[in-house]
Amino acid sequence: MEEVVIVGAGIAGLATAVALKKVGVRALILERSKELRATGAALGLFPNAWVALDKLGVSDKLAALYAPFERNGAQPRAVHRKVLLEVLAEELPPNSIRFSSKITSIETQVEQGSPICIVTLDDGSIIKSKVVIGCDGVHSIVARWLGLRPPVYSGRSAVRGLSVFPKGHGYDQSHGIHQFVDVGKRAGFITLNDKEVYWFFGATCPPKGLEKGADPEMIQREVIENLAKDFPSVFLDVVKHSDLSSLTWAPLMFRYPWNILFGKLARSNVTVAGDAMHPMTPDLGQGGCSALEDAVVLGRHLGDSISKHGKLVTQDIGFAMERYAKERRLRAATLITASYLSGWVQQDGSSRLMKFLRDVVFYKLLLARVVNSITEYDCGKLPSVSSLPSRESESSI
Ligand SMILES: Cc1cc2nc3c(=O)[nH]c(=O)nc-3n(C[C@H](O)[C@H](O)[C@H](O)COP(=O)(O)OP(=O)(O)OC[C@H]3O[C@@H](n4cnc5c(N)ncnc54)[C@H](O)[C@@H]3O)c2cc1C
Repeated sequence: MEEVVIVGAGIAGLATAVALKKVGVRALILERSKELRATGAALGLFPNAWVALDKLGVSDKLAALYAPFERNGAQPRAVHRKVLLEVLAEELPPNSIRFSSKITSIETQVEQGSPICIVTLDDGSIIKSKVVIGCDGVHSIVARWLGLRPPVYSGRSAVRGLSVFPKGHGYDQSHGIHQFVDVGKRAGFITLNDKEVYWFFGATCPPKGLEKGADPEMIQREVIENLAKDFPSVFLDVVKHSDLSSLTWAPLMFRYPWNILFGKLARSNVTVAGDAMHPMTPDLGQGGCSALEDAVVLGRHLGDSISKHGKLVTQDIGFAMERYAKERRLRAATLITASYLSGWVQQDGSSRLMKFLRDVVFYKLLLARVVNSITEYDCGKLPSVSSLPSRESESSI
């Protein structure tokens, strides 16, 4: 019997475990992969993510490694995914993550008057827990169990990669993102340090060859010789320098915002966070940032419950989860909508009207305001654990 089981050791799962540790609750993370998965190479973290990372106690470590750059009026930093995951994992007690543990189903039952979650793994073993938090990504089993409608395909896909220049890339590191837009296509790259560059390419087409298993050489060839062949040589040169093991090509999925507004985000002692709750297109770089927000908000509500009762009372966990779901609903739906519209204006359509909307209305008048308003979000403070009777709270949930 576990106290809290978190499904998935991605950004959401690890950050949630760190937030729970900070309010005196220990969680077991079940991860289907053999090790931390850093799919996507790198990501941009906006100010809202840094507020959350600060609450989790890891912002200084990361900020020391990556410089901020200017992006539509905000100051994000591009961060290696692997480093972000490792920094979060380092905060956890030993044996907090159990790798090669894929969950296949979840159910709940009542034992001695309290709801208990039963999680089944693909090797047939069963783990009982008082709480389950699904951080299992876009195709979340936990979200399905909650009754959330499956995510939908946006009609677009994105290739991401990390390029390495052993002798230095020579790009101006203070430049921020180098972006290239064409009809139905958008690409960009950003330096991570003086030798590594993160790049992405998005297009209105499905990923190719996934059914045969992703072949990185095919992905690289497809971008250089076909999809991005008309893009500036500076971008193609970056793609040529790719570390093949970092290349991925994924369909861009999102959940309809009304499914978040009206769907069940928590049921009994089970809830979801990160992409499991709110998969969104990456056009505003907010999926990972909002997963970090989720972690702090969930930790805050469970922590507040401990503060109120002096310990985490089993019957109160459901209320804490409802409060968390209520707080996240509108925020998540807004981010999904803003991201989708941003992608639509930037990439879809070749008409003059679309070009006018993109180049004049969106880039010049709207984008900075949208980015500022969504990235100024403050996810709140975690209650201080030193003021809590932590032993009692651990044993009583
Ligand atoms: C092209 C692209 C660019 C992006 N750029 C940005 C950006 O710049 N900034 C930003 O903030 N976000 C960005 N995002 C979004 C970001 O990548 C995601 O929102 C983020 O990774 C979500 O983290 P997560 O932990 O919720 O899910 P995931 O990272 O998907 O982690 C889920 C974890 O759960 C595990 N898992 C799944 N199923 C099971 C199971 N049944 N049992 C056990 N374990 C399981 C998986 O192995 C995985 O480790 C981008 C996304 C894309 C596609």
